[in-house]
Amino acid sequence: MIKREVNQKDILEYVKKYISTVEDHYGLSKHHLTTPYVYMNDEKIGELKGEYCYILNEITVYWKNITSLEELIRTLIHEYQHYLQSPSWMTRYYNIGHDYESHPYEVAAFNEEENWKTIWKIAS
Ligand SMILES: [Zn+2]
Repeated sequence: MIKREVNQKDILEYVKKYISTVEDHYGLSKHHLTTPYVYMNDEKIGELKGEYCYILNEITVYWKNITSLEELIRTLIHEYQHYLQSPSWMTRYYNIGHDYESHPYEVAAFNEEENWKTIWKIAS
């Protein structure tokens, strides 16, 4: 459906717009006192688009790897799910043998990305 090209300036503007919609839509995490800080990283690390660190309560957006509005919204939704999830279970699932593909929190975060159009519509 929507595959608009975005540039650096757009990305910053869009991040502000869509992260606030994501916050309103999903609400506050039980595991943190505030919404996550969003950090724009200039590096190009493989195909990595986003990352969440629960210690810093920070979402990193690797904006150079993001080429469309859909990807940006998917990334914000995905990382926000990790903000909502329990940090101790995030670790525990790995300890009992899950990998990135099978980790229930990753599966949940990828599934939630499919609702990107909902966020896009609310914000538009
Ligand atoms: Zn993830």
